[in-house]
Amino acid sequence: MKVPLLDLKLQFSTIEGEIRAAIDELLQSQRFILGPAVSDFEKEIAGYCGAEHAVGVSSGTDAILISLMALGIGAGDEVITTPYTFFSTAGCISRVGARPVFVDIDARTFNINPERIETAITEKTRAILPVHLFGQCAEMEGILELAAKHDIRVIEDAAQAIGAKYKGRGAGTMGNLGCFSFFPSKNLGGFGDGGMVVTNDAALAEKIAVLRTHGSKPKYFHSMIGGNFRLDAIQAAILRVKLSHLDAWTEKRRQNASVYDQLLKELPVVTPHIEEYNFSIFNQYVIRVQRRDELMSFLKEKEVGCAIYYPLPLDLQRCYEHLGYRKGDFPESERAAAESLSIPVFPELTEEQLRYVVEQIGLFLQREPSHSAAK
Ligand SMILES: *Cc1c(COP(=O)(O)O)cnc(C)c1O
Repeated sequence: MKVPLLDLKLQFSTIEGEIRAAIDELLQSQRFILGPAVSDFEKEIAGYCGAEHAVGVSSGTDAILISLMALGIGAGDEVITTPYTFFSTAGCISRVGARPVFVDIDARTFNINPERIETAITEKTRAILPVHLFGQCAEMEGILELAAKHDIRVIEDAAQAIGAKYKGRGAGTMGNLGCFSFFPSKNLGGFGDGGMVVTNDAALAEKIAVLRTHGSKPKYFHSMIGGNFRLDAIQAAILRVKLSHLDAWTEKRRQNASVYDQLLKELPVVTPHIEEYNFSIFNQYVIRVQRRDELMSFLKEKEVGCAIYYPLPLDLQRCYEHLGYRKGDFPESERAAAESLSIPVFPELTEEQLRYVVEQIGLFLQREPSHSAAK
């Protein structure tokens, strides 16, 4: 049996008519830059997340970048974040000229550990940038308390967490700014790149809207230096269709996750730990195992898609050598990078496929450790 990590063709086949109609309508209008497709989608995302404002941008990365720009963060500033995330979280901090300051994760949730944040705060700290990894919100209460106490801002990297909730509050709406990605493999994925910034701060929303078109307001008059950070109207038209299906897809992902939770209970595998007050959207279902690399090769042989998110913590990346971190600085991130494996959880999976994945993991775990692993 073949079980891919993600199958977007399957999803497309269920909504193809609606998508083609939406694209056709946009083609007829020839309004490709901003316009009603983008502004309608912004209102819908704001409503969906429970934020007052939303500004469509060119990618999740650009959502983070423009958020840092809007807060005026730059040279000489520090931003606290997690080393166990996609590169763009830290990359954006560096690109505005600030310094990423890493804080280790909580071993159970893979998210930044708020108890370790306070000692990392200095007089240069301007913001905390938590990531809601794999679809589960970071421990926001502790983060928001520290931010209030030290008068620093919070930008949520909610690229993997659209629709997730923390104690009833929407991912992206708890800090000053929240960033979403519509990269095709995200739970709400476009047909290319796209992103969104949400906020309850009207002034920040306005600033981001101006920055996304070269800081120009009115046209050809520039009080700020922005860039071209616009969300394409054609992506917005497609994403509006997909948004109407998102809750049903999320429900399916959650059901798949709970089937795995049950079936994997019998095996020596660590399944995802979701705090009881969190509503995870399971962008990834990530297990932890000792012989991870061997399991991955075994599953690939059996045609089960799987992937490592992420194999090397950001503090140990070559481009960050100059920051001076060393192996051992963030042991939980390093352990997670060595043990975690993402297995298929996408909505269209059948129960038969889920059982096959678990069966194969079980077969692997029954085998004797190979010589290379025993060394
Ligand atoms: C996908 C992702 C991003 C970047 O989004 P793009 O749309 O690919 O630029 C940022 N942070 C995290 C945690 C992500 O998963």
